[in-house]
Amino acid sequence: MAWTRFGKKKDMPGGLWIKCESCAAMIFRKEFSAYRLCPSCGHHFGLVGMERVDLTVDKGSFEELWSDLKTIDRLQFVDRQPYTEKLEKAIKKTGRNEAMITGVAKIHGMEVAFGVMDFSFLGGSMGVVVGEKVTRLVEEAKKRSIPLLIFCASGGARMHEGALSLMQMAKTCGALKQFADEGGFYISILTDPTTGGVTASFASVADVILAEPGALIGFAGPRVIATTLKQELPKGFQRSEFLLEKGQVDHIVTREKMRYELGRILAYATGGDATAILQEEDAAELAGS
Ligand SMILES: [Zn+2]
Repeated sequence: MAWTRFGKKKDMPGGLWIKCESCAAMIFRKEFSAYRLCPSCGHHFGLVGMERVDLTVDKGSFEELWSDLKTIDRLQFVDRQPYTEKLEKAIKKTGRNEAMITGVAKIHGMEVAFGVMDFSFLGGSMGVVVGEKVTRLVEEAKKRSIPLLIFCASGGARMHEGALSLMQMAKTCGALKQFADEGGFYISILTDPTTGGVTASFASVADVILAEPGALIGFAGPRVIATTLKQELPKGFQRSEFLLEKGQVDHIVTREKMRYELGRILAYATGGDATAILQEEDAAELAGS
């Protein structure tokens, strides 16, 4: 499966040198900061779930919830190998039970319900457990009256769970509707790639939709669309910048500025002090330079 975007290709390669997926520059591993950006073109490499948590929330503030939830293979699905074996391998590889990390945390001192999809676990696909964890997270945000933040990265609904995985689209959106009706505030951050049933459900129904630069965001893949329409697709089709232009994304934020930007939006939404956040970020930047 090394040829697909869900296979080995996306994993961080070993060795001292890494080739940039975008500009083909050779990057010395030590030049890579925690942000995992290409020093020559700024390309955003994939992050695994916990790296994203560490980069985003206040140090030591993340309290994980429902990490023990595990998937049951209800359909006893077998393709090239049984689904249960695939799950076991993914658990062993990532050290996580599923493709979604959920909990509560603080960002610039403001409490949030915080979710991160983990693309390294079966391509961040959404099955019953991912849907359940998203739903519980939305309900937790509602119960605590705090904003909700979800970093999306997904190949879409998990095929091995058939209609049960598709039902998670309605389930998560139902919970989000109740949350919105009670005045809840939700920020969705689309990272590379956010596709399929995740794009078509909870990723796209936020109050504010942010995206990382150059992220692939769409429902069906570009090749499927081009073949169906028998047309050449416009340049940059389904990338963050294209979707910003079309109004589907509100703002593109680089990884280095994400914490600041989230703090600013959260302060605006909750009546906090955005000036203090700006000063804190400036101080961190000065300390780092
Ligand atoms: Zn590059």
